Amino acid sequence: MKKKESTTSALSYERKNFWKEAPIAEQKAAFAFAEAYKSFLNEAKTVRETIAYTEALLKKHKFSAIGKKGSNKVYTIFRNKTIAMAVIGTEPISNGFNMVAAHIDSPRIDLKQNPLYEDSGSAMACMRTHYYGGIKKYQWLSTPLSLHGIVIKKDGSKLDISIGERDDEPVFIIPDLLPHLAKKEQYSKNVADAFDGNKMNLLFSGMQAPMGEDKEALKSYALKILNDKYGITEVDFISAELELVPAVKARDAGFDSSMVVGYGQDDRICAYTGMKALLENLENKPKRTMVVYFSDKEEVGSQGNTGAHSIFLKDFIGSIMAHNGESNSSANLRKAFMNSQILSADVTAAIDPNFPSVHEKQNAVAFNHGIGISKFTGSGGKYGCNDANAEFNAKVIKIFTDAEVFWQTGELGKIDEGGGGTIAYILANQGAEVLDCGVGLMGMHSLYELCSKADLYSTYKAYKSFLIAK
Ligand code: MN
Ligand code: MN
Repeated sequence: MKKKESTTSALSYERKNFWKEAPIAEQKAAFAFAEAYKSFLNEAKTVRETIAYTEALLKKHKFSAIGKKGSNKVYTIFRNKTIAMAVIGTEPISNGFNMVAAHIDSPRIDLKQNPLYEDSGSAMACMRTHYYGGIKKYQWLSTPLSLHGIVIKKDGSKLDISIGERDDEPVFIIPDLLPHLAKKEQYSKNVADAFDGNKMNLLFSGMQAPMGEDKEALKSYALKILNDKYGITEVDFISAELELVPAVKARDAGFDSSMVVGYGQDDRICAYTGMKALLENLENKPKRTMVVYFSDKEEVGSQGNTGAHSIFLKDFIGSIMAHNGESNSSANLRKAFMNSQILSADVTAAIDPNFPSVHEKQNAVAFNHGIGISKFTGSGGKYGCNDANAEFNAKVIKIFTDAEVFWQTGELGKIDEGGGGTIAYILANQGAEVLDCGVGLMGMHSLYELCSKADLYSTYKAYKSFLIAK
């Protein structure tokens, strides 16, 4: 788009506002893109549900398991919690691949392994919980929650649970203390102490069997209705994975509907845009192999067999090399990673009108100005960061600029204000070039995270241009 340019604007960097400068067709495309995104957020509220959603979409686009002859669109799911998908290019994979890497776990409230108890004082059957990831505990109190997860029954069968998403299903509540009586318990303490993870027990049920003689009548009744409905017994909870997430649906926000509010946008917004970028890049066989990877456990340190530290991703790349008829010797696999370029696709913090002081405005992202590029994350003196190389940073900026993508640069927050990390360094440890690149959110890690539709769409376009880059 040609614009009159003063000498100053030609020389200086200024981020561009999407609504001010993007063509009307692009603005309409941004709104349309957000519609499908909202239904994704509603259908894929947990790690396992995101995997199921993704697999269904991949199959629709004719992706297959590795090994199927002649297919250059492949994917692998590992332990139902992590997935890698690839479109194999014309060049050998050992020349390097282009990858968008996001995580699909979000902060949540898990049930404890032995959760159910009867609380005699309140005369209620309750469930004990243990929160997952960095939450502000008070946000999860007195708000409707839905229960998702799986239970493995004694016969080995797997039971998928989802209660509280449909309008005709009940929701669950962890009640907060009334303000009238909060003086000592909460108001006299600092926020970190006022909300205790041990006081986040869930109201499960309140009925009991008529004329029953059980000692713990409330708990017995709760077990009975669980057994009637699902055929499970108390011991089945011990191996189960059951988690509470906000029962509210993603929807438009703001009078102009320019934002999306919803749970789990950290980091499913980058997962979704990455996946869409791959699926909208299928017309021609690419030169370099395109990979999209969704990791688990990022919110708790990326360990374990489904976290980014896991062997899974390396094994996947090795497998697609074999599928492609290339040697996947240790040396060749190392070569593939060392020749690769990766966007660590994770969200960052956008300037919030209520808390501008935590940012240094010139180096923070603002809504509606496109995908946010963070050369480094970490805390203090960049501790724990990846710190992308200038050469790669410049290359990515050129790719975005050539594709007319709206982009901006930003750190997570002001120096010494706090900090955070991503999986960027884990992937960079394999020798690849890695740059943090994602959407700026407001209210990150809350039940109602906000994004701008302009940034959502810009991020999709950014990943699309990157995956196909030479
Ligand atoms: Mn994240
Ligand atoms: Mn996070």
